[in-house]
Amino acid sequence: MKRNENHVFLQIFLESMNDYSKKLKNSIYQLVTEAADELGVDAYVVGGIVRDLYLKRNSKDIDIVVVGSGIGLAKAVARKLSPSPAVNVFKNFGTAQFRYNDEEIEFVGARKESYDYDSRKPHVEDGSLQDDLNRRDFTINALAISLNGPNQYQLVDFFNGVQDIQNKIIRTPLDPDTTFSDDPLRMMRAVRFSTQLNFQIAPDTAASIARNAERLKIISKERIIDEFNKILLSPKPSVGIVQLDKLGLLQHFLPEVLNLKGIETINGKGHKDNFWHTLEVVDKIAAVSHHLYLIWAALLHDIAKPVTKKFNPSLGWTFHGHEFVGSKMVPAIFRELKLPTNDKMKYVQKLVALHLRPQALVDESITDSAVRRLLFEAGDDVDDLMLLCEADITSKNSAKVEKYLTNFAIVRRKFIEIEEKDKLRNWKSPIDGILIMETFQLRPTKEVGIIKTAIREAILDGVIGNNYEEAYQMMLEEGKKMGLKPIL
Ligand code: ATP
Ligand code: MG
Repeated sequence: MKRNENHVFLQIFLESMNDYSKKLKNSIYQLVTEAADELGVDAYVVGGIVRDLYLKRNSKDIDIVVVGSGIGLAKAVARKLSPSPAVNVFKNFGTAQFRYNDEEIEFVGARKESYDYDSRKPHVEDGSLQDDLNRRDFTINALAISLNGPNQYQLVDFFNGVQDIQNKIIRTPLDPDTTFSDDPLRMMRAVRFSTQLNFQIAPDTAASIARNAERLKIISKERIIDEFNKILLSPKPSVGIVQLDKLGLLQHFLPEVLNLKGIETINGKGHKDNFWHTLEVVDKIAAVSHHLYLIWAALLHDIAKPVTKKFNPSLGWTFHGHEFVGSKMVPAIFRELKLPTNDKMKYVQKLVALHLRPQALVDESITDSAVRRLLFEAGDDVDDLMLLCEADITSKNSAKVEKYLTNFAIVRRKFIEIEEKDKLRNWKSPIDGILIMETFQLRPTKEVGIIKTAIREAILDGVIGNNYEEAYQMMLEEGKKMGLKPIL
């Protein structure tokens, strides 16, 4: 590399840092330089962070590759810091890592990898910097900057990665068939980077993905979903999902979404293509929210349309109950994909189940009791539900869209009004089961449930207020109806 290019590079390197991180990063790099010199090894900053320097993008983690022991260098650098951070050592991988001021700094010894066809576990041996960069996924991720010795701050770019960054190209450093066969997750990563960065996958790289797509099945669902979640959190997830489909990857982990595709026509009547509709909804949500599971809810909101689809000669196409059937499909999908099956899954289920309700509210005239019921069922997630419903309006008829959105604005106002009055979000009955049992000297029998339900229904219908006095009175009346006598 020529001297002036170096100079330009260094400028990019420094300009891209704000004052705080400049100090921090300079100090870390400075310490790596000193420690590497002392140990007599060559160290480089490598991978995503170098790419992001060129893209002027914020990057959290710092990866250091060292021709020698990564663990040794990590410990030496950590010793120079005060307070000295704890170093996590992964002996099997020859890597070590520590956190410093909220950043993760990972050290790895340069290595050479070779793979068996059937396994994801590589044979690893020590290697040169070139060996290490050969095993990286894309040219844009195979850049390194020397941190010590006579070449300090020089860029190492064996595969024209900088040019690919400038041309916005995703390309493998080696023959793509080798790169993808070695670690098929890289196919997901190609689509992920393309979606996040708005880069094109080079034609020969894309053709190779299409050829090797089947190999995704040797990859764990956790790793696949990790990349897929990053696609969902990109500015326009549909770009990635369409590519995953075109390249034959989507069918290997989310066939349910692919089943949404297509339009059936009977007697000249068709329905909308639910795949494209879903992508539109996902994009609209991703544009206004970074809540991953809200985006998942958007992706799965119509998931049961294919299985509930019916043709009715007078009504045309119907998808009755798709919201409930869809909500019931969520757990199997989450389990299969190793997504969390806790409250996050329940949240997705809830939004899928309720996604038609605000619309129904509008159609059936917005009564206080219907609003109360929805507030009660949606709880704290009512705002997310409204975002989903608004995004769900994808008609081409702008007057229609306008009308729906105006109606939803009325619903939102109504929510606020009723919530102020009745406090139904995360509602708890003013009378609990224990009080009912004590009052009537009951064991936990079905009468207790009947009284509880009657009180809840009366409050949601606005027959009584959401307060202890009225609920207590109602409890006595309901008990009386069943011949129960209160112990006063
Ligand atoms: P980001 O952190 O924004 O997701 P990144 O490029 O830093 O992007 P990481 O997953 O953090 O991605 O990986 C760091 C670097 O390690 C990459 O830039 C790449 O050089 C290399 N790398 C990561 N995963 C793979 C892989 N599966 N195959 C080959 N190289 C990889
Ligand atoms: Mg990273």
